[in-house]
Amino acid sequence: MSDINELQVVPHFVGGQEMPSSGDRTAPVFDPALGKESKLVGLGSAADIEAAISSAHKAFPAWRDLSITRRQQIIFRFRELLNERKGELAGIITSEHGKVVSDALGEITRGLEVVELATGFPHLIKGEHSENVSSGVDVYSTKSPLGVVGIISPFNFPAMVPLWFFPIAIAAGNTVVLKPSEKDPSAANWLAALFTEAGLPEGVFNVLHGDKEAVDGLLEHPDVKAISFVGSTPIARYIHESAARHGKRVQALGGAKNHMLVLPDADLELTADAAINAGFGSAGERCMAISVIVAVEPVADQLIEKITSRMAALKIGDGRRNCDMGPLVTRQHRDKVASYIDLAETDGAKVVVDGRNIKVDGDENGFWLGPTLIDDVPVTSRVYQEEIFGPVLSVVRVSSYEEGLELINSGAFGNGTAIFTNDGGAARRFQNEVQVGMVGINVPIPVPVAYYSFGGFKASIFGSAKAYGIQGFQFFTQEKAITSRWLDPSHGGINLGFPQN
Ligand code: NAD
Repeated sequence: MSDINELQVVPHFVGGQEMPSSGDRTAPVFDPALGKESKLVGLGSAADIEAAISSAHKAFPAWRDLSITRRQQIIFRFRELLNERKGELAGIITSEHGKVVSDALGEITRGLEVVELATGFPHLIKGEHSENVSSGVDVYSTKSPLGVVGIISPFNFPAMVPLWFFPIAIAAGNTVVLKPSEKDPSAANWLAALFTEAGLPEGVFNVLHGDKEAVDGLLEHPDVKAISFVGSTPIARYIHESAARHGKRVQALGGAKNHMLVLPDADLELTADAAINAGFGSAGERCMAISVIVAVEPVADQLIEKITSRMAALKIGDGRRNCDMGPLVTRQHRDKVASYIDLAETDGAKVVVDGRNIKVDGDENGFWLGPTLIDDVPVTSRVYQEEIFGPVLSVVRVSSYEEGLELINSGAFGNGTAIFTNDGGAARRFQNEVQVGMVGINVPIPVPVAYYSFGGFKASIFGSAKAYGIQGFQFFTQEKAITSRWLDPSHGGINLGFPQN
């Protein structure tokens, strides 16, 4: 372990500049491929929470009132800068999260799509107008921002998930306090500094680092009007309940357990490629990762053979060395994921490929766990029922489409799913019958593009609004309906009933 006195402490970003944490609580930030502490992050104290929220609160009126044209120019400039410098951000992500650089670039690209959507915000915050609803009376609506909004994000997409929310919130005229994951905090500061460089006035976008204390500070503060959360299901449930109790608008996206249903007529070469990409990309630390293959017999043996041969060719190692898959985010998480492989053996499943003793192109102290394939996983096992969030792919064999569908629909989560088949009728039936929010047809990770919205069903989401797209703009604006009449002498007289014409 390094001497913690030598380590840089990641500061907050408040009022357009870095702000050191005022308390003495910190959390370690690791370089997962080296397996060592590389930085510390200051955990927000009561004073830091107040400073971040008050900075956003003070910046709100001027930002809300800045012309649409000027706001749009700043967002365009941010888009240009982010695109030019995304390589720098990818390096930061890899050094704290561990995912390979190409995948870090991929998450930034998906985040950029939302910035591009946000540049078109003037069209998405327009109201409606009806002339002459009654004689001489017009009704119209406006969409105004809410004020200060809090965004709380998970470790697995340190750039993309914040980018799902803050470009839209800011474009719509709100000011933001982002509380990123304490495991990989630096991407948030980098994004906030870049937006400031693009011309964003100070205080519009603040980053508050911390743990439960900072989160509770946002949930309870009367000046915070809305909360957007992404993370695990137990915390999403807590955020939803607590934010609602404090009178806030809330969207809280939770965990997942995504199934891939493979019908006997599927192209098994393409299906095997898709299973590898969706199961082991980002070491399985994606809320849209495929973690269960539901194989409709007789395909299972053949599919497993094709997946296994592809797994043997995967290069695991330091994300900076052109590998396919990097380490897990912390040692603790690595050990938790590995414990599910032990459990699978205990529960009578068959470990076909075991990632526990993998050879890697990287430091021996890294948080390594290789791609793992487990066949015949009993649906009563915790391996099947719980979100593992690592490179562990389970196979469950079923005898029919109906049995597979029933299995998927009986799960606690409903984030993403995919069907692999060449039968258009079966795919169409699946699209209608499956109780999951995002559905892929021969597409393993069906993350919607920015102008649709992202979100699942059941324990994968709490609150009514999904992330980004039209729903994102609805979430970050409030509609006012205005009924107007310009007085004229003919409108005099007393009438206590509703007007009828
Ligand atoms: P997490 O729930 O541990 O943490 C998410 C955020 O909540 C972090 O900012 C963290 O600091 C904060 N937090 C943690 N414990 C808290 C507590 N007790 N009280 C208040 N705040 C707390 O999640 P994670 O491990 O960072 O991320 C992985 C999880 O996120 C997985 O379950 C994954 O499926 C989920 N996820 C979901 C989506 C989606 O869109 N549905 C997207 C990405 C990740």
